[in-house]
Amino acid sequence: MAVVQADLVKHLVAVVGAPNVLTGDAVKEEYTHDEVLTAAPVVPAAVVLPASTDEVAAVLRYADSEGVPVTARGTGTGMSGACIPQPDGIVVSFERMNHILEIDRENSIAVVEPGVQLDQLDAALAPLGLVYPVFPGEYSASLGGNVSTNAGGMRAVKYGVTRHQVLGLEAVLPSGEVIQCGGKVIKLSTGYDLTQLVIGSEGTLALVTKAYLKLYPRAPHGATVLAPFTTLDEVTNAVPKVVASGVGPLILEYIDMLTLAAMSSQLGLELGIPDDVKERAFAYLVVGLEDTHLDRLEEDTHTVASLMSELGAIDVYVLPPAAATSLIEAREKAFWIAKANGADDIIDVVVPRASVPEFMQRVGEIASANGAWIAGCGHAGDGNVHMAVFQKDDEARQRIMTALFRTGMELGGAISGEHGLGRAKNKYFLELEDPAKIALMRRIKAAFDPNGILNPGTIFDRSG
Ligand SMILES: Cc1cc2nc3c(=O)[nH]c(=O)nc-3n(C[C@H](O)[C@H](O)[C@H](O)COP(=O)(O)OP(=O)(O)OC[C@H]3O[C@@H](n4cnc5c(N)ncnc54)[C@H](O)[C@@H]3O)c2cc1C
Repeated sequence: MAVVQADLVKHLVAVVGAPNVLTGDAVKEEYTHDEVLTAAPVVPAAVVLPASTDEVAAVLRYADSEGVPVTARGTGTGMSGACIPQPDGIVVSFERMNHILEIDRENSIAVVEPGVQLDQLDAALAPLGLVYPVFPGEYSASLGGNVSTNAGGMRAVKYGVTRHQVLGLEAVLPSGEVIQCGGKVIKLSTGYDLTQLVIGSEGTLALVTKAYLKLYPRAPHGATVLAPFTTLDEVTNAVPKVVASGVGPLILEYIDMLTLAAMSSQLGLELGIPDDVKERAFAYLVVGLEDTHLDRLEEDTHTVASLMSELGAIDVYVLPPAAATSLIEAREKAFWIAKANGADDIIDVVVPRASVPEFMQRVGEIASANGAWIAGCGHAGDGNVHMAVFQKDDEARQRIMTALFRTGMELGGAISGEHGLGRAKNKYFLELEDPAKIALMRRIKAAFDPNGILNPGTIFDRSG
């Protein structure tokens, strides 16, 4: 093994230079895990930091010829354990490939390397009055990670998820071949859509070295409406009605009372909601709106506020900008709050948005039948329910997970809406998904990666 490793390191050093190959103590702890709560960290044989597509290709060519497992890493904010390496494998970390290559204003497209972080891209676009609209809750996430998980986030209800905003990719196959799929064109009907196949593939098919992203004018005006309801059912029933109202919400989130109380006590969130309202409220609906014209925004805000009242909200608040920003920031920190409070797992089942009420009812039944506590908030507009599951016993928790995922699938949904399967959810996927689909996916995997070097143990089991 030591000889194999010495050989591996020698080859990697020849490609990227000695300072860009990390082994032993130089492999910092952060390279061993992401943010998932249920998969153990793993120290890889080496971490390699390429600076160009050519270097990525050379690393992959060598790894493929030697059968060395390769796990790509963005910034490790993933929630499914998908960037946890193999002990005999290497991590390809894209932190040096962090350049915004082009902001093409005429075509409204940004071309970025995979290590560019969302906050970095946003800072470059804001002064130009442009926005890349996919904002998963952690802005230090990389675009390569976003592409590979098909990241969503709060604004997906208006703009869709990553796959709706990526027009093309440059990607490296395990053989070292570099493919260009899509690009600056808005439409493409020329053979299989490899861009879409690679998006969401969690680093198992190819390594992404460039992405072409759609840009939009940055709306200068925004408003946030907060509506407390006495039952979660009322909140989830209101969601399809807001969508159907035609206001085109930017954000449509539900937050249950326990999560909002935790945001207040642990993050100091103060929204000025009177105590008597808080006492009666079981769950809250948050509706974010944006527009380029202030009068249109005011009209839409009025429409949403009236609709909330008609649908039985205890009260309706149009939040001042500072409070609105604090609420959205607190919502983005919901994961850290759940983790700090001892959550044993966090999942993000997606169901058709109109099925959320039935799903949540069944979640309650599953929790009480298994002695668990399940709190939540979620991208209600997308039917993407984020749940913090509190059940220490591993066996009981796995039973609960299976029941939750099965229920979501029975309602026409899926195990994950945006976090992916990674190492943490793949066993449920392999157990619950249609075997014909899994077999087809295995054949696709084999076509891209015949030697099974890319991220083994993610989506499928280690055997591939
Ligand atoms: C507080 C918090 C809130 C979050 N909120 C959301 C949310 O609202 N919506 C949402 O969708 N997600 C959310 N996430 C999850 C996470 O931010 C996303 O999954 C994000 O896309 C991961 O990006 P990353 O750079 O951290 O990728 P990593 O975790 O490093 O990797 C994720 C996957 O991408 C692969 N990968 C990375 N780079 C490449 C590449 N160049 N080529 C091929 N494969 C690659 C990895 O192998 C792995 O499979 C949240 C996370 C946190 C911690």
